[in-house]
Amino acid sequence: MQQNIEVKDKAPDSVGKPVKIQPAKGSTQHAPTDRIYVRDVKGRVETARRLLGFALMALFLLLPWLTYQGEQAILLNILDQRFRIFGLTLWPQDLTILAWIFMVSAFALFLVTTLWGRVWCGFTCPQTTWTFIFMWFERKIEGSRHQRMKLDQRPMDADKAMRKVLKHVAWLLVALLTALTFVGYFTDIRQLFGEFFLLQSGAWATGSVIFFTLATYGNAGWMREIMCTHICPYARFQSAMFDKDTFIVAYDEKRGEPRGPRGRKQDPRALGLGDCIDCNLCVQVCPTGIDIRNGLQYECINCGACIDACDNVMEKMGYPKKLISFTTERRLEGGKTKVFRLKSVGYGAALLVLTALLVLDILFRVPLELDVVRDRNTLFRENQQGFIENVYQLRIINKSQQADTFRIEVSGLDEIDYMGPTELRIEGGEVYTVPVTVAIDPYFLDASLIEIRFTVSSVSDSEVERTTQSNFLSTR
Ligand code: SF4
Ligand code: SF4
Repeated sequence: MQQNIEVKDKAPDSVGKPVKIQPAKGSTQHAPTDRIYVRDVKGRVETARRLLGFALMALFLLLPWLTYQGEQAILLNILDQRFRIFGLTLWPQDLTILAWIFMVSAFALFLVTTLWGRVWCGFTCPQTTWTFIFMWFERKIEGSRHQRMKLDQRPMDADKAMRKVLKHVAWLLVALLTALTFVGYFTDIRQLFGEFFLLQSGAWATGSVIFFTLATYGNAGWMREIMCTHICPYARFQSAMFDKDTFIVAYDEKRGEPRGPRGRKQDPRALGLGDCIDCNLCVQVCPTGIDIRNGLQYECINCGACIDACDNVMEKMGYPKKLISFTTERRLEGGKTKVFRLKSVGYGAALLVLTALLVLDILFRVPLELDVVRDRNTLFRENQQGFIENVYQLRIINKSQQADTFRIEVSGLDEIDYMGPTELRIEGGEVYTVPVTVAIDPYFLDASLIEIRFTVSSVSDSEVERTTQSNFLSTR
């Protein structure tokens, strides 16, 4: 006679309780409005995710506080249109570098997805990381899955109200810290923290902090898996990058089926059963509420929680682990996973080329910009000596982070009178606008429009030089 499973878990909700909604084959297990009570799980995957999560979180929180050469090391100043990343300052004119960065990031994501599936979603995506942080607070304050279910079912009382208030306050504090840090990447973080708590921050900073606090609180506290399963576009197009050799979280159906309860000492083969004891723990720990035994589903974020849950069950039953594991479809079919295949090699090659272009663009970037704008009010005028004069505005940007002295020269015709500064001291990151006048004896003008060139060069570094062409107009 078959017996119920004997998997014993110390947690009070450990008896193989069915989840709220049982999975329908091939479909999601929850309507978007259903609350998922995620069960806590321990194991090697969870440990790896926590360690990575701590490292990434520490990086996120600390990076904007770093200083480099006396200034905030990372400052993406949108209002002043300059992105400072340690020794590199990017301006709107450096659009190609930003484009390379986006392309490199995109192809890195494609390559990683082709090789390791949605490992980004499960281990590094902010939505997952913050959701797991929020779930940790929920567990600490409201208890285990079973206790949370009971708490939500019972009418409001002082204890329930206290726990709910405490949980939401904790969530809001985490969300506020997240928002302040995030906005601190776009403005002076020391000033922001000081001013925000003294209620002296400006409208833009205050509005941004409030917006991102609510966004974090809403996403990680309330939206959770809805963001992954219904809003994030990445979940939809990732399948285009998958093939039989992509690592995914998968259930070994051949080994697990037919599933069913049994005693620990009973031989499953004698009972005509596979290794799955149908305890549903893999479903209970799933943050998106799906049953991995139904096969690959776009809701699966590859977090691996079900691997830990099932490994723990297998260990207690005395069966080999990895009934659910990170594996490939080819391996499940008995083949050998191929790392080098058309897709992975293609994405890898594109990534290498784009990274090389990005590095070259940064290495050969001239940290100087020169714009020449002709005076729009007067096309030309004649001065007291009878020379024709044109007026220009030179806009010089010192894109480096150090002050430098720059020389200004005009060329294009032998007989040119230049009236303006020949040397300028410009601070690092400064935009300097200077009006200059060019005068030419009409005797040397053989056309009504001739081309002239303005050159600005660094006195200290001959390689830092910019030349911009403009027109000289006259009556000829
Ligand atoms: S099925 Fe497993 S890996 Fe996929 S989201 Fe659920 S727990 Fe994570
Ligand atoms: S796959 Fe593993 S965790 Fe899931 S029901 Fe079967 S035995 Fe339990």
